Amino acid sequence: MAIIIDGRATAAIIKDEVKSGVTDFVKKYNRSPALAVILVGEDPSSKIYVGNKIKACEYCGIESFSYKLEETATEAEILELINQLNNNNAVDGILLQLPVPRHLDEYRLISAISPYKDVDGISVYNLGGLLSGGKNVLSACTPTGCIDLIKRTGVDIKGKHAVVVGRSNIVGKPVAIMLLNENATVTMCHSRTVDLANITRQADILVVSIGKTNFITADMIKPGAIVIDVGINRTENGLKGDVDFEAAKEVAGFITPVPGGVGLMTVAMLMKNTLLAAKLKDNNG
Ligand code: NDP
Repeated sequence: MAIIIDGRATAAIIKDEVKSGVTDFVKKYNRSPALAVILVGEDPSSKIYVGNKIKACEYCGIESFSYKLEETATEAEILELINQLNNNNAVDGILLQLPVPRHLDEYRLISAISPYKDVDGISVYNLGGLLSGGKNVLSACTPTGCIDLIKRTGVDIKGKHAVVVGRSNIVGKPVAIMLLNENATVTMCHSRTVDLANITRQADILVVSIGKTNFITADMIKPGAIVIDVGINRTENGLKGDVDFEAAKEVAGFITPVPGGVGLMTVAMLMKNTLLAAKLKDNNG
């Protein structure tokens, strides 16, 4: 029976650390760090995620500015808003809630955000910084949350075989690079991978981010493995992950639940990045 990794408790610890860091920041700079959140359209999940991020800002003492744009907003309008926020000295972080409506080019919009304010850590600059091991880059929130949870199990990542299923720019690819940076031997899998189960069964650490309810079954997991389930799928039975949690927990050594796992860590890491962005800005004058 696996140890359940408590993302809720860990996220609470991180948010408390940020809160105390914000108190020090306010004393030193006489202002609060500030996050601008842009939501385009009416996606119900995105609205919930944005609400959670704003609540977390309130908790940590981070000021938040919320921009809700119509589903029909044009790329030019959003680029103009991003440009204004880039030039607004009172704003430390800019978060564009993804996914954006289909008529918009997500890559172009993210690329328009100043890398110093890209608190989601998914711009070309920050992902490139991750690849090249740069210091003081803003690291992608969800992958950083995954690594933090893995480290807190107490299991040494070095030399372990880590398998990442899913290769999105916001989760799969950066988490694979982070695991590599931690000296794991990393295998990346995706929809064209042949005999996926044979590979996942070799994983000491298995990170799954594909968006398919209960896709990873117990027989695909190596006994004792650390299983990190990034998936958030809305079903008629509530939120479910990509891993068949009930069966998998009988095989894994450690496992994250959904909800209560990685999702909360993403928000906590966003708070951490916003404070870091504010500190870096003020240190750079
Ligand atoms: P995407 O939805 O962008 O892409 C899905 C990935 O899964 C692709 O790389 C795809 O492969 C792969 N995939 C799809 N089907 C299979 C399959 N049968 N076998 C192997 N690989 C497959 O990924 P995201 O990372 O953005 O999102 C994945 C999930 O994570 C979603 O449920 C999302 O809601 C959740 N999520 C949760 C977050 C959190 O904070 N917890 C943050 C971000 C996402 P290919 O590239 O070949 O198409």
